[in-house]
Amino acid sequence: MISKETASKILNEALKTGADLAEIYVEDVVSLQLGLEDSKLERAVRGADRGAGIRVFFGNLVTYAYTDELEEASLLNAARAAAAAGTGGSKTQIIDLTERKSPLQYPIEKPHDQMSIEDKASLLAHMDEAARAYSPYVVQVSAGYLELRRHMWLFNSAGLQVEDDRFFTEMRGGVVARKNGTLQSVREGFGGRVGLELLSRNDAIGKITEVAETAVQMLDARPCPAGDMTVVMCNGWGGVLFHEACGHQMEADFITKGSSAYAGKIGQQVANPIITAVDDGTIPGRRGSLKFDDDGTPAQRTVLIEKGILKEYMWDLVECRRVGREASTGNGRRESYRHMPMPRMTNTFIDQGEHDPQEIIESVKKGIYIKSMAGGQADIAAGDYVFNATVAYLIEDGKLTTPVRGATVFGNGPKTLMQIDMVGNDLALDPGMGMCGKGQNARVSVGQPTIRIPSAMVGGTDEPVSGVMG
Ligand SMILES: [Zn+2]
Repeated sequence: MISKETASKILNEALKTGADLAEIYVEDVVSLQLGLEDSKLERAVRGADRGAGIRVFFGNLVTYAYTDELEEASLLNAARAAAAAGTGGSKTQIIDLTERKSPLQYPIEKPHDQMSIEDKASLLAHMDEAARAYSPYVVQVSAGYLELRRHMWLFNSAGLQVEDDRFFTEMRGGVVARKNGTLQSVREGFGGRVGLELLSRNDAIGKITEVAETAVQMLDARPCPAGDMTVVMCNGWGGVLFHEACGHQMEADFITKGSSAYAGKIGQQVANPIITAVDDGTIPGRRGSLKFDDDGTPAQRTVLIEKGILKEYMWDLVECRRVGREASTGNGRRESYRHMPMPRMTNTFIDQGEHDPQEIIESVKKGIYIKSMAGGQADIAAGDYVFNATVAYLIEDGKLTTPVRGATVFGNGPKTLMQIDMVGNDLALDPGMGMCGKGQNARVSVGQPTIRIPSAMVGGTDEPVSGVMG
């Protein structure tokens, strides 16, 4: 994208006013988005965006400038703008840029151009037909396709040069069913850091038919009872609870600010000893997976909690420098070249436990089983959360019985982690649609086995829910 010689020149310009580290992040993004609403293709957008961000470090003061022009003159201007905060002077350095390769591979079996736009659009039309054919109660159907390629290059004045070419494919479908004035909306999707092989590994028509089936089935569900009860949460998407109510608090920026419940707690018990939790940016095909993070640090697997003991936080370069820590955990991520990286999760999950999921359900006399999570909110500092379930069932005498609508679970993340008393042996990650918003959007995965919370506050609500995570 830019040559070593150009990179070296820009970095020297950025260092001129006395910075101790300078960095160029270059990004080239292309995308195609198709959206079908009311049986019509309402959206077909090809996107292209490229640019570069120059980041300059004066100790803990970090400045940033970006440009959407990659010509040398524009990059030099951006470097001067980012360096303007400095007052010192320095001599031109020889920057020995050496490309670092990653052992991680995320091969694309079927590139995006191996299927025409017409065929992609017609798949959406078939999803629409299948959902409508499922039942006359289906009154609204939406379907979407996204392909995205984010290619990044990073150079810094310490001599680092890395590259990560990230391909993503996503399919989503939503159904609204109506009966006697009752509306039920269910949305699902699947995706990953993969090419079009996503479509042969997943059955889009089968999936939307299941979504329609769930929406119609939930029309007859009764309102969820409210109160304090035992909650069993499904594997996969259920991991959104850990992500929101605990994971964010283990991100180093909240730790160094001291605003997290986990600050200063390394080595202490923060969860039931049956819980181990991991952030792993190296899982093949997952949407939070990276070769290098957006600081240029290799992606890695980080054990956050091991058998209930807090082991590690998620670090980026800025927070490491702030506390004089040598190595980042590879969690520096940015939404685009317009943004500075910050500590973010990648693929974050509660690890495999010992219980058969059936045994967990059978252990509950009276409670609720949450089969599908729609989304929720959490106060990062306090860890208080509210989560909405799209599909839930009552558990009575160890059996799943009546489906219930509008179930909402309230609690506090750090407290819930101490309470969880059964962890299943059915670890799964979500289907690959997780989007985390922390000022900037980042693709993430969440996951967990089936878990049991012996006592949690459950509320009933018919509020519409969204599949977007916070
Ligand atoms: Zn999040």
